[in-house]
Formats: sequence, structure tokens, C-alpha cells
Amino acid sequence: MKKMYELLVVGSGIVGLAHAYEARKRGLSVAIVEQNARCTGASIRNFGFITVSGQGVKDTWRRAVYSAKVWRELTQLAGIKILHQGTWILCQRPEAVEVAKAFLKTKMGEECTFYEKISYKDLPRLGFENTGNLRLEESLGVLYSPHEFRVESREAIPRLADYLQTEMEVDFYWSTEVLSIDDSSILTSNNRFEADRVVICPGSQLTGIAKSYIRKHHLELCTLQMFRLKVQEGFILPGSVMTDNSLARYLGWAELPEAQALKDRIAKEMPEYLDEGIHLIVVQSADGSLVVGDSHRYGSAEEVFASERVESLIINLLYKVLNITEHKVMERWTGVYPSSSVSDALIEKVSPRIRVAIVSSGTGASTAFGLAKDNFDEWLSND
Ligand SMILES: Cc1cc2nc3c(=O)[nH]c(=O)nc-3n(C[C@H](O)[C@H](O)[C@H](O)COP(=O)(O)OP(=O)(O)OC[C@H]3O[C@@H](n4cnc5c(N)ncnc54)[C@H](O)[C@@H]3O)c2cc1C
Repeated sequence: MKKMYELLVVGSGIVGLAHAYEARKRGLSVAIVEQNARCTGASIRNFGFITVSGQGVKDTWRRAVYSAKVWRELTQLAGIKILHQGTWILCQRPEAVEVAKAFLKTKMGEECTFYEKISYKDLPRLGFENTGNLRLEESLGVLYSPHEFRVESREAIPRLADYLQTEMEVDFYWSTEVLSIDDSSILTSNNRFEADRVVICPGSQLTGIAKSYIRKHHLELCTLQMFRLKVQEGFILPGSVMTDNSLARYLGWAELPEAQALKDRIAKEMPEYLDEGIHLIVVQSADGSLVVGDSHRYGSAEEVFASERVESLIINLLYKVLNITEHKVMERWTGVYPSSSVSDALIEKVSPRIRVAIVSSGTGASTAFGLAKDNFDEWLSND
């Protein structure tokens, strides 16, 4: 017998889960169909770093502000632990200080603070713990953003799926690949569905059913290297940590006019980092281990082989900003996301019934709920 839903979501990554959540909030009956036995894509391979500051102005930032709010609510409801809050961006070059100060004058920077060298000693008094584990004395200043937080994605995504299933009545069909969609029904590897609407959230799987619908967007794939480190006992991060390379990369900072001088200097001083698209993000897990990345290689297919050289470059950067004395690599992995040169995300309206939703940048954990909200606000208003 055919199963009938008002919305069928293809893909159980964060973009699919966010669509299911937003659709249930609007009262639709929803099923998620996932080809794997569980989510194995970018959504569980990422840092779990829910970011607001540094997101591209307009849509991406707006979606990130909304998504952070939903994430916070869902962490409470679904029993997902927030592991740490706030981001510390260590500025090692005068050009980076200029970017940080310019950012504070924008709307996005309103609640952030730039601490000059002279005020480092006041950080504990201001309520910040463990800032002594940052190598602040070697930076010219530090930009602090209070908005970010971290979840352990490999635990958070299954918990979110459980919550949607048990508390929000979303039906999940695991190990079920969607093979084709026509005007009235959806054929999968296991059964057939009928749905009033279908949203395909394929992540980096650009070769399957979504292929013909999204060809015109000329998406590439971006492969990232990541690893988990054990460091000395008792080491605790004060929050997520980045360096001034990030100020030259994330659009909310990198598109400021002041960022050009920083980009030029980094290009001159660190060409090998630029070639591999390396910038540093460090976050911490409940067991004290650090999740560290990342690099960015772009191409028409996933980069299969992780490079030891890239890993060493990232670790060199890590030792420049953290007071760590030893490390051991516990895990290594790569992750892939689709990438567009023109937009951070896309909603392709295939027909009145079928849409494709893709985050075409490394921002999906931080923006998926906002993307899904935008999608339904417009789609359902057409009824
Ligand atoms: C290493 C790495 C680090 C990152 N770090 C961050 C970060 O810290 N913060 C942040 O905001 N973003 C980050 N990102 C980006 C973020 O992880 C992605 O934007 C987001 O996870 C994309 O979610 P998704 O649901 O589109 O894709 P995915 O998680 O890949 O899910 C897509 C799902 O669709 C399924 N699927 C595809 N085709 C079919 C079919 N025909 N039938 C059934 N199922 C199908 C796949 O099996 C897959 O499970 C990172 C990405 C990577 C790779």
C-alpha cells in the first residue's frame, strides 16, 4: 500500500531534519526518507559549531540568527548538550585588528567585544574562565563573540531525529533510497509514497535524483580534513577558537573593505595555507578532546585521500594559539559539502510540488532552520 504524506523529505541531514521540524510546526504530516541506515553525511562530520558572527550579511546571517534560536530550544527539548559557548578569534596581525574593529561597527558586531592586549588580565574578572589556555600574549588583540555554541554533531543529529520521531510525529524510513519522483508518486528502493510536496535535501550527493534539477547551479564539491586530538590532561578551552585566517575567509568579516589588507598579507606570508584553504577552528568535546580543522579542496568530485602535510599545517597553527604541550591524533576524517561561487544556499523550485534545498557552503549546521523557514514561508503562502 502507498503511504501518504503532506510533505516527504529526502535526506536526514540537518537540512532535511530542519525541513521536517518547520513543516510539523506548520501542521503538515511529514516523513523523512534516508538511503543510509543513519545519517553519515556532513551533518555528523562537522564541528557542531553553531555560528552567527562571521556569517555572510543578509540571508545567511539572518538565517543563522534564527537557527541559533531554534537550536537552543531544541537542545533543551531533545536533551542535546551545549558543550561550550562563545568564540575567541586571536588577531596576530595589525590588519586583523582593523577587521575586528570594523566588524564591531556593523550590526552583526553589536554584541561582540574586542579585547586589547592591555585588558587580557581583566578577562577572568569579567567572568571568562580558561582564557589562560589561549596564547593571548602573542596576539595583538582578541575578538570575542558571545553568540556561538557547540554541540557534538554525531550525538546531536541522532537525538534530533529521535525527538522529531517520538515527540513531533515525523515518520522516518531508513535504508530507503528515493529513486524517482513523478507528479503523483515517489518511488524508493523499498516502497512507493504519495505526497502533496517533496523537498529533496541531498547534501553533497549531487549525482542522484537531484542531478537534473540542480545542474544549472554548477555546484562543486568541497572536501575538508578534520581530526580529533587528545591533549594534556585538564586542558579546557574557554570557547571555540579561531585565528585571523578566519577573518579573511568567513564572508561576514572577509567582505568588509578592511579585510583586503589582511587577505593580501596572509597571501604573502602563508601561501601554502591559502592553497589548501586552511584556517583554524578548534572546539572541545565532553571528554576533553579537541576537534580541529580544517582545509578546503574544491573539485568536481570528492577528494578521497587525506594529506599528512595538510594535517601538519593545521597543527602548526594550533600550537601558535593554544597553550598545549602535547597531542595525539585519535581520529581523522574527511567531510564534503556542495559549494557554489554565487550563494551560500539555494532553493530550487522544480515544480509546484517539488523543491530542492541545498546549503552550498560550509554553514548548514548554523543556517538550516532559517533556510527551511524561508522555504515554507514562501511555499505555503502560494496555497
Ligand atoms: C567537515 C565539515 C565541517 C563543517 N563544519 C560546520 C560547522 O561547524 N558549522 C556549520 O554551520 N556548518 C558546518 N559544515 C557544513 C554543514 O555540515 C553542512 O552544510 C550540512 O551538514 C549540510 O546538511 P545536509 O542535510 O544538506 O547534508 P548531509 O548531512 O550530507 O545529508 C544529506 C542526506 O541526504 C541523503 N540522501 C541523498 N540522496 C538521497 C536519496 N536519493 N534518497 C535518500 N536519501 C538521500 C544522504 O544519504 C544524506 O544522509 C561543515 C561541513 C563539513 C563537511
